[in-house]
Amino acid sequence: MKGDDTAAVARRPRVVIHAEQCKGCGRCVVACANGVLILSNDTNSQGHLVPRASGNGCRGCGLCFYNCPEPGAITVYKRKAADKEKVRDAAGVAR
Ligand code: SF4
Ligand code: SF4
Repeated sequence: MKGDDTAAVARRPRVVIHAEQCKGCGRCVVACANGVLILSNDTNSQGHLVPRASGNGCRGCGLCFYNCPEPGAITVYKRKAADKEKVRDAAGVAR
């Protein structure tokens, strides 16, 4: 059913790049063994090239987050139950 599919997608691990916090170093792209993050020509207001998350495949491992030197530039959403809200641990990784 379509509604079930939407809910399942919402529970998948995913990564969000917060463009305005990004300095374009590319460390997250190198860190992601799954190739989820790719270099792009997208720039933020400071002119930094911001990586883009491509398609599915994020496992929620957090390696991109831990390799990013900029606080707040990456949020990783781990797989979660539909009725639970995002909870950040001390390192800032959402679970
Ligand atoms: S959480 Fe892991 S799999 Fe997902 S984008 Fe980051 S490094 Fe890649
Ligand atoms: S590691 Fe952080 S600062 Fe560097 S490109 Fe990725 S999101 Fe931007």
